[in-house]
Amino acid sequence: MNIRIGYGYDIHRLREGRRLVLGGVTIEHDKGLEGHSDADVVAHAVIDALLGAAGAGDIGTHFPDTDPQFAGADSIELLRRAVGKLKEQSWKIGNVDVTVVAQRPRLAPHVAEMRNALAEAMGIGADRISVKAKTNEGLDAAGTEEAIVAHAVALLHRFLLFKEL
Ligand code: MG
Repeated sequence: MNIRIGYGYDIHRLREGRRLVLGGVTIEHDKGLEGHSDADVVAHAVIDALLGAAGAGDIGTHFPDTDPQFAGADSIELLRRAVGKLKEQSWKIGNVDVTVVAQRPRLAPHVAEMRNALAEAMGIGADRISVKAKTNEGLDAAGTEEAIVAHAVALLHRFLLFKEL
């Protein structure tokens, strides 16, 4: 059994006139996240944690933000595609743990829906995904509502043939 851990981090700036999408869930708010794609900071951190665990680069190498095909992209779909790349290398997802840092809006009411959307995209049970929402106690960019931040860790496992060990 081969086990790997990966870590992902992302931050996007908040601004008016954008939709707020977190963990595949559209959340009612007076601001949304700025970015080339839908700027789903939670999905992006999860993608980087998964790719990092597999030693398979990062979100920018697979889905470059200079590529017009990813303009306005649905990041949950990018997550689905990233998981597809891991499957090609026989990786299975053990669990994913996410912390999302936002002063506002209050995210606790949306956590269950985020877990379900992430689980569906990754093809695993929601019990293997944790989403923890925090404020930043008014400090730094996340605390002053300039940005939303997400951190994620992921565990991958696979069985290797003897010759590969
Ligand atoms: Mg991002």
